Amino acid sequence: MKKCIECGCKEELLVPIYQRGTSCGTEEDYSSKYICEECLDDSLAFGVCTYCGDEGAYSIKDLKDDCCEEHVAELPIIHEDAEDDESGWSSLADHYRDPNHW
Ligand SMILES: [Zn+2]
Ligand SMILES: [Zn+2]
Repeated sequence: MKKCIECGCKEELLVPIYQRGTSCGTEEDYSSKYICEECLDDSLAFGVCTYCGDEGAYSIKDLKDDCCEEHVAELPIIHEDAEDDESGWSSLADHYRDPNHW
């Protein structure tokens, strides 16, 4: 019988927990444990990958920025881009050059 490992409830909507070390889970990576969505929301031990969705819960240690290891690579990278930096700097420079601010 499936039940939540946290609260022991036997909800229909139990989320299967992936085995530790799973990088992008499939059904084959399910451990025999389940967690209900409610506990999952509050859980400090388990979480879901933003990209994989609610198919399964990862150990929090296998997640980075709410993504599984495989999907971390697909995160929009916040570039400390030379371009952005420059425009940031030049607008700052403009700001200081603007006589209205003096
Ligand atoms: Zn629960
Ligand atoms: Zn993922």
